[in-house]
Amino acid sequence: MKRARPRPTRRLILQGTALAALPYVLLPERPAGAHAPAPDYALAVWRPASAANYTVANHSAARPVDRVIIHVTQTTYPKTLFVFENPGQHVSAHYVVRSADGHTSQCVREADIAWHAGDWEHNRRSIGIEHEGWVDEPAYFTGVMYETSARLTAAICTRYGIPKDREHIIGHHDVPGTDHTDPGPHWDWERCIRLVNAA
Ligand SMILES: [Zn+2]
Repeated sequence: MKRARPRPTRRLILQGTALAALPYVLLPERPAGAHAPAPDYALAVWRPASAANYTVANHSAARPVDRVIIHVTQTTYPKTLFVFENPGQHVSAHYVVRSADGHTSQCVREADIAWHAGDWEHNRRSIGIEHEGWVDEPAYFTGVMYETSARLTAAICTRYGIPKDREHIIGHHDVPGTDHTDPGPHWDWERCIRLVNAA
């Protein structure tokens, strides 16, 4: 995760542009009984981040997505969702995968720009996936989490035409200028890429 946001001027411009087209996206809470949007990935549960924690993209022009960025939460699954729902946190990711069973939440629409990489250009071009665990606690990197994450990553890569390789499926630590180390030395990249290609 990374508590950072893009330059306020640009963010306001983007949100202002989107406001006319899709005002419901900016509402912090939906009225009771309102229809919640289906997740972009059928196996995910929709658990929206606060609209204050991501950038609503210009939906009239699809954003170019050519990277999937792999993260580790450094906190628990429920606390990650709680942080994303808190409008004061200025952090989000598109998806969060639970360690014990691979349960997956989607928190930001893929069309919108989640704040996970700490770098505007990388946020703008990527889908961010958080994995429950800590970089120095390899026991959290369960087989079911690798497999669930790989199916999600493969679906994203197929949809956007992203090559299923290490050049395009990157770690947060690969983002230039970051001080984040996730997913860390215990993340099995060979297994990750192999499972994405087998999914
Ligand atoms: Zn990260």
